[in-house]
Amino acid sequence: MIYTTRKEIGLKKSDYTIATLASHSSLQILKGAKDEGFATLAIVKRGSERLYKSFNVADEIIVVDDFSELKDLDEQLSERNAILIPHGSFVAACDLDDLKALKTNYFGNRNILTWEADRIQQRKWLGKADLLQPKIFKSPDDIEGPVIVKFFGAAGGKGYFLTHSKEDFERKIAEHAGKEYILQEYVVGTPVYVHFFHSSLTGELEIMGFDKRYESNVDSVGRVAAKEQIELSIETSYTIVGNMGLVVRESLLPMIYAMGERVIAASKEIDGIGLFGPFCLETIITPDLKMYVFEISARIVAGTNPYINGSPYTDLRYDVPMSTGRRIAREIKHAIASDELEKVFQ
Ligand code: ADP
Repeated sequence: MIYTTRKEIGLKKSDYTIATLASHSSLQILKGAKDEGFATLAIVKRGSERLYKSFNVADEIIVVDDFSELKDLDEQLSERNAILIPHGSFVAACDLDDLKALKTNYFGNRNILTWEADRIQQRKWLGKADLLQPKIFKSPDDIEGPVIVKFFGAAGGKGYFLTHSKEDFERKIAEHAGKEYILQEYVVGTPVYVHFFHSSLTGELEIMGFDKRYESNVDSVGRVAAKEQIELSIETSYTIVGNMGLVVRESLLPMIYAMGERVIAASKEIDGIGLFGPFCLETIITPDLKMYVFEISARIVAGTNPYINGSPYTDLRYDVPMSTGRRIAREIKHAIASDELEKVFQ
């Protein structure tokens, strides 16, 4: 007999193990998977084993010296039907081609990673979705008004700096020789990170929550008087330290939801299958309530971590505490039950 579907082969939820790299949002992912009844596996960097064991969310731990060793575990993970759940540390620690080549089941659309990793492609995508974006200055000669200088790759805002003129820029960039950067209009407003989940099984889009970030030193500059800031020549930086939960005024929700819908529609134009699972729009809202999107993350973001026990928004829809990690596991559970795993692994 030739088996054609996983259902015919007889794989059940209990035959799969949800696995991830122990970092970023892994505790939430593993807890969510356990809550949905899956076995869990954490790939832990040597030295962090005791910590990860202490939370009791990983049934099993594999110790590595570096996350880039993920590719060497591929055979072992795929043989035992592991399902990898990607997060920010995957893109930061593993080569994009290595990720794409993995045989192990991988939740999400890997093709979209290429778009996410490249700021120029990302901009095209957000443009197709008709989202308002900060201006990009092609050359330091064009700098006009406040500008944020950003380096390529998900570095957690490390080293980003503000500038306002070519002279100032040239002085500050000297410390970052050889790095690729973009010059982006600095929008003065409040940063708001929007967490979405798009189901490729039902086509539904859900708002999972919002966060704001806590960054060093920019979030503490206000603790030093302006006079002292100048005297001490304090320069701002944006190194992410943590995240805080947030709710937005309800009147903003229809606009935000429509933005999410357009991002999904545009992703289908660029890739066919398009974006599914969790994603995040990183925005700045100005006093006249314009929402500038400066980045998209096409996966779970660490800003969902305050909501391991569910958010005010997931509380509306679900009768159990629904974190984004748990939502992912539930999607996989439904895909196994309806024999549609192809819709969640790309
Ligand atoms: P990363 O690339 O590491 O995700 P971000 O792009 O999120 O870093 O930016 C780091 C910080 O800079 C965040 O606090 C964000 O709010 C702020 N920021 C980024 N782009 C802009 C912008 N165009 N205008 C104003 N603030 C910005």
